[in-house]
Amino acid sequence: TPAIAALAYHDGEFVPLAEAQVPVTTQALQYGTGVFEGIRAYVQEDGGLAVFRGHDHYRRLLRSSRTLRIEVGHDVPRLCELTAELMRRIGAMSDMYIRPLAYKRALLPGSPPGVQLTGVSDALTINAFRMGSYTDRGGIRVAISSWRRPESVVLPVRAKVTGGYVNNALAVDEARAAGYDDAILLNSRGQVAEASTSNVFAVVRGRLVTPPVTADLLEGITRDTVVTLATDVLGVETVLQDLGRDELCNADEVFLTGTGVEIVPVTEIAGRPVGEGVPGPLTKTLMSTYHDVVRGRDPRYRHWLQAVGPA
Ligand code: PMP
Repeated sequence: TPAIAALAYHDGEFVPLAEAQVPVTTQALQYGTGVFEGIRAYVQEDGGLAVFRGHDHYRRLLRSSRTLRIEVGHDVPRLCELTAELMRRIGAMSDMYIRPLAYKRALLPGSPPGVQLTGVSDALTINAFRMGSYTDRGGIRVAISSWRRPESVVLPVRAKVTGGYVNNALAVDEARAAGYDDAILLNSRGQVAEASTSNVFAVVRGRLVTPPVTADLLEGITRDTVVTLATDVLGVETVLQDLGRDELCNADEVFLTGTGVEIVPVTEIAGRPVGEGVPGPLTKTLMSTYHDVVRGRDPRYRHWLQAVGPA
């Protein structure tokens, strides 16, 4: 793979990544008052690069930023264009992961120090790095975390807020220390919420089930993609309903969905095999369908792909 330029979009300019820095006084660093996205760009059949569902990711970024009173300063089309421009300047020709971050920066003159969302300036930065797709990865083993997902009256879990990821990091840390790959977090009612950075689906008595947004989870864009593909391509309706821990552990198939993990089969939960302990048939079909879609091999979903264009 040819070298790519280490660049970021930072404070309104494209700069060398090493120069995209923040002072220690940055409000978001001290209080977790930032919002972010994780977006993927995939090499297409024709060799070009395309961003997958960039508009939907940036719509969610703008929704998240409203919650924290962060002024991103650009609309969705402009954010998509900045992302494509970053890809072109980097010279990206392989699969990429894109990380936009909008955050609270510095107290405005006259603002008293303290935890606050007003009287503070805002900033936007976008960086990107190479990240291959995991098509051939086998199943993963997950723990049920002792950490619960916070209720939305405690933290706005539907917004992708940096500070909230302390909860996710603690869950991952606990799971890894116990020898698992990832953790599934229950919500305050003891129902399945989501995994550390992905949503949860289960095949229960032939039905595809995923928890509703009221289960205190981030409404994943991959979750939406999977619901759409299951209906359109496989003729399987997804049932949005609460999923108990028992139901999950006794499901025929379980898989996680997220931009980073894409669709990954779960073959063991808390030391017990899921089904036969191997990726299930519906999971495998959805995985191959998903990979066709993100690579532009399915004309029905080309509208989800935004070509970056030649450098
Ligand atoms: N839940 C959490 C907590 C996440 O961090 C992510 C990753 N953004 C997801 C779910 C999946 O969301 P998406 O499919 O939009 O990447």
